[in-house]
Amino acid sequence: MNKPLILVIEDDKAVRTLITTTLKAHDYRFIEAVNGEAAIIAATSHNPDIILLDLGLPDMDGVDIITRVRMWSNVPIIVISARSEDFDKIGALDAGADDYLTKPFSVDELLARLRVTQRRLAIMNAESVSSEFVNGNLRIDYAAGCAYLNGDEMHLTPMEYKLLCLLAQNVGKVLTHTFITQKIWGNAWESNIASLRVFMATLRKKLESVPDSSQFIQTHVGVGYRMMKL
Ligand code: CA
Repeated sequence: MNKPLILVIEDDKAVRTLITTTLKAHDYRFIEAVNGEAAIIAATSHNPDIILLDLGLPDMDGVDIITRVRMWSNVPIIVISARSEDFDKIGALDAGADDYLTKPFSVDELLARLRVTQRRLAIMNAESVSSEFVNGNLRIDYAAGCAYLNGDEMHLTPMEYKLLCLLAQNVGKVLTHTFITQKIWGNAWESNIASLRVFMATLRKKLESVPDSSQFIQTHVGVGYRMMKL
C-alpha cells in the first residue's frame, strides 16, 4: 500500500529540512514548494493526500492558498505557522484548514497529526474501494463493471465508465482536468483535455436522461469536474 503523498509548503529552509527529514525517516512520500505559486502548481498537478502549509510565505498569504485549494479539493491541510495568535488560527480554519501546528513544534507532534489525518483518509478510501457505490439514484457495481440509474443498466462506453468511476471514487471533490487526464490517459496533453470535455458531455447526457439526475456532475470552468454527493 502506498504511503500518502505529502506536499510540504514552507519557505524557511531549516523548518523545511526538519519536516522532510522527519517524513523521510518515517517512510512518507513528499514533494516540496518554497512559495505560494509553486505550491498551487504542485497541489494541482500532483494531487497530494495531505498538505503541510506554512502561513507566512514570501509571495502569498497561506490563508489565500487554503482558499484557492478549497475551490477544487478536499485534501486535508495541516497549517504550520510561527504565528501563535488565535486570529491566524481561526482565519486558517475558517478558510478550510483541517488542523493547526504552532512553531516550534515537536517531531512527535507532527507525526501524531499526520497519523490522525491518515486514519481519516483510510476511512475515505475504504468507502471508495467498496464493491458498490451508491449516490442518489445512481449505483455502480464495481465487481460487475456496470452502472445503474434508477435500477436500469446504463449503456456506457468503457471510457465513460472509467470517468464515472473516477468521479465516484472522489465524490465531493473537484478533480482538475490534469488529474483526470493523468488518471485516464496517463498524461495531461491538451488533446486529451479536449477529449475529456467530449466524453464528459456524453456521460452527463446519459446521467441526465432521467429527470431528477441532473445534479450529478458539476463543471468548474477552467478547473475540472466534481461529482456531487446527493
Ligand atoms: Ca515562512
